[in-house]
Amino acid sequence: MTLAAHRGTALGTSMHVVVTDPDTLGRATSAVEDVVAAIDMACSRFRDDSELSRFQAGGGRHEGIVSPLLAQALATAMRAAELTDGAVDPTVGEAVRNAGYNVDFDALPAEGAPLQLTVSPIPGWRRVRLYPASRRVEIDAGVEVDLGATAKALAADLAARAALETMRGGGVLVSLGGDVSVAGDPPEDGWNIQIAEDSRAAITPDGETIAIQSGGVATSSTTVRRWRRGGVELHHIIDPSTGLPSAGPWRTVSVVAGTCVDANIAATAAIVRGAAAAAWLDQAGLPARLVDRSGRMTRVGGWPAPRAQTS
Ligand code: ADP
Ligand code: MG
Repeated sequence: MTLAAHRGTALGTSMHVVVTDPDTLGRATSAVEDVVAAIDMACSRFRDDSELSRFQAGGGRHEGIVSPLLAQALATAMRAAELTDGAVDPTVGEAVRNAGYNVDFDALPAEGAPLQLTVSPIPGWRRVRLYPASRRVEIDAGVEVDLGATAKALAADLAARAALETMRGGGVLVSLGGDVSVAGDPPEDGWNIQIAEDSRAAITPDGETIAIQSGGVATSSTTVRRWRRGGVELHHIIDPSTGLPSAGPWRTVSVVAGTCVDANIAATAAIVRGAAAAAWLDQAGLPARLVDRSGRMTRVGGWPAPRAQTS
């Protein structure tokens, strides 16, 4: 079977669309681009004109009716918080900014003056209320919502589904910065996906790959989105209990699940939860690969042993 692929950039990261029927690539790609643009417009914290930025502009409490897509993204983020006991929580907004991540990563200086960092738990997702039937949202004063963790994975899931709808058969894979979702009929030997800590890594013949038939794969990592302020290393995954970049043993976690959203929730939660996460993923039956700070790998939940690798 000949696969056809399109590469581009989206949401400040790489975008790949792969289809099993080359004739469908054009339609699939434009469906993916439409979904990604809509998610960016609804959820981005880097653009002032996104619906989320406008909704929570200025101080004080925010309330109103949001679009169906923002409501879905918020519901996804709230579900993540509930499932992970708040390890993945959308009210990290202020903590992420305080750690210095306040512009699109490409524009973020690698070095800078020291920051005044204080330990203070994030407000917590119960300070946001979503009434799904009416799409009414209330965000308490002092709470800043950041959908960075779940919106990219949701975009991958929605994009793969939207692409499939345009295709009349076949299968499609969508990757947004390593958050992968597949839909439709897979290639005969499954979708082969190279797992790396950095989604910009080149595809190499000896890279570790896994094959999936359906669902999604996501990787969360503290190695790529890193910066230094006053000589202190910082990164973009916040421990909600301290409001500071998480300090656990894992630097990268990749997870396979029934959707890209669920894979991403588990991957980010594992970084936040630290050592205990390996057993938790294993018990949950989620295939996962965890890389610790020294590069040592732990594979749990049925994640296959690498074929031609030493680690
Ligand atoms: P990656 O971009 O490596 O896939 P994630 O999926 O974990 O990483 O998403 C990290 C992004 O989510 C951060 O850039 C930030 O916007 C937001 N974030 C950081 N910490 C948390 C957290 N504990 N819960 C929810 N969102 C978070
Ligand atoms: Mg992720």
